[in-house]
Amino acid sequence: MLPTNFVGLLSLCLATTAWASPAFHFSSLNRNEAHSNSGSTHRGSDDLPDDPSDDCGTDISVDDAHKEEKRFRTMRRPHRADEEHFTFQLHYHNVVANTSFEGGWLDDEVIQTMVDNLNADFSSTGVNFELAEINHWSEENWFFNANKTEGLDLEVEMKESTRVGGRDTLNVWTIQLPNGPAGYAAFPWNFDKTDQDSIRDGVILKYSIIPGGRSKTRFGRTLTHEVGHWVGLYHTFQGKSCSGEGDFVDDTPMQLAPTSTKNGCTAIDTCGNDPGDDPIFNFMDYSSDECRSEFTPGQIEKIRQELATYRYNEEEQR
Ligand SMILES: [Zn+2]
Repeated sequence: MLPTNFVGLLSLCLATTAWASPAFHFSSLNRNEAHSNSGSTHRGSDDLPDDPSDDCGTDISVDDAHKEEKRFRTMRRPHRADEEHFTFQLHYHNVVANTSFEGGWLDDEVIQTMVDNLNADFSSTGVNFELAEINHWSEENWFFNANKTEGLDLEVEMKESTRVGGRDTLNVWTIQLPNGPAGYAAFPWNFDKTDQDSIRDGVILKYSIIPGGRSKTRFGRTLTHEVGHWVGLYHTFQGKSCSGEGDFVDDTPMQLAPTSTKNGCTAIDTCGNDPGDDPIFNFMDYSSDECRSEFTPGQIEKIRQELATYRYNEEEQR
């Protein structure tokens, strides 16, 4: 039942392409021909889906976040000088129903652009992602249903069949996410909790959130946002309160509620008694992608400590 992963012969930049399908079994050359015959492109097309949900499906309760931060303080491992740069291999899984855009197909060039943008967004953090492989998986059921909203078991099946590497490898899947959020990710501290947590590690993205798409508010920063969770950051509005620990980062102002994309980049302050406006320019808010452009120094330090502790520890034996 599971598709055979046919690793293609072509290389695109650092990426290799694979096409897998029980129904179709193309090499990269044949796949490219099939795609060009489909006559479907995604950029500039008028038949693209409406703006996707602004929401992110990466949730953690206030209590659970406190437990994790308490645990983190006991096992936190400072990053060493030789870990000044953290480099992760990125395996991209483009799950499709067919080779049209509506069927989920993303050209390799688009995926490469997404990864380039991701690296640009993370350039201030010392974290870098190398696109090791692009896989195009033809599995209609996965495309429509392999997500925690529609079918968690199917999500686990998809990831178990396709996931590459361990805690230090980033796997990204694009699927339809029909009624769900724009994406969601696994936090780094969950990797070892259960076998299923290890399998589910990575990022799931709604396929239509791409650079150059029709959405005026979501054009690629969702990947940066979700990877922000993967490296250990909460939402800037974590807890949705003007008191408490918030996102456990000192230099992100308290925020009572996520910023709507409809707010544009206009200053807003949902916690008037707390210094500073809401962090609408932060990647970990929900504001429009035209605003989301920064991690704070406090977030960067948290990222680096999280990675040194949970993902990039050569002595890792937990
Ligand atoms: Zn999020």
